[in-house]
Amino acid sequence: MNHPLQCKCGTLKGYVSPPDMANRAVCYCKDCQAFANFLERPGDAVLDELGGTEIVATLPKHVHFTQGLDALVCMSLSDHGLLRWYASCCNTPIGNTPRDFKISYVGLIHSCLAKRAPSLQESFGPVRMVLQTKSAKGQVKSTPIGSLVSLLKIMKAVIATRISGTYKHNPFFIGDSGAPIKQPRELTKAERARVTSRD
Ligand SMILES: [Zn+2]
Ligand SMILES: [Zn+2]
Repeated sequence: MNHPLQCKCGTLKGYVSPPDMANRAVCYCKDCQAFANFLERPGDAVLDELGGTEIVATLPKHVHFTQGLDALVCMSLSDHGLLRWYASCCNTPIGNTPRDFKISYVGLIHSCLAKRAPSLQESFGPVRMVLQTKSAKGQVKSTPIGSLVSLLKIMKAVIATRISGTYKHNPFFIGDSGAPIKQPRELTKAERARVTSRD
């Protein structure tokens, strides 16, 4: 079953086709927190109470946009950081991708994956990884067992797309050139400082 994907206001819509690889994870890193701060969505939390962002790690070829693609833009916290995609209409975070589309990976952010049925659990299984817990704003339960196995599965799937050439099926990048569909907005040092928490 396809899992619906949309921004909060409904301009950008799509779905995630049943993935041969998907892993739910929670990332507590400062950069993910900075991205959430950048989007400024008070009252509609991207972050959990410990500053974690729940993501569904999967292959970009499973992500399909069906309307509103014009609204999809990306930013980066630095000139070499991940591309962080979001819907510009309502600042809903969509997902993070590496800059090199040959590394076929996207970390979809829970905010764009409608919480109506099917649940994230049904579509993508349980949370199997917690990342960067040192930057959490409190004690995080230790890494779930199976984290390393999950990571190896992701790496295996990413390498498989490289070999088969299916990495070119990626809605965030232009097929053959590998350029992102939108020019990333890179934050200046001052902007970056403003969205990065210092504690
Ligand atoms: Zn929107
Ligand atoms: Zn992170």
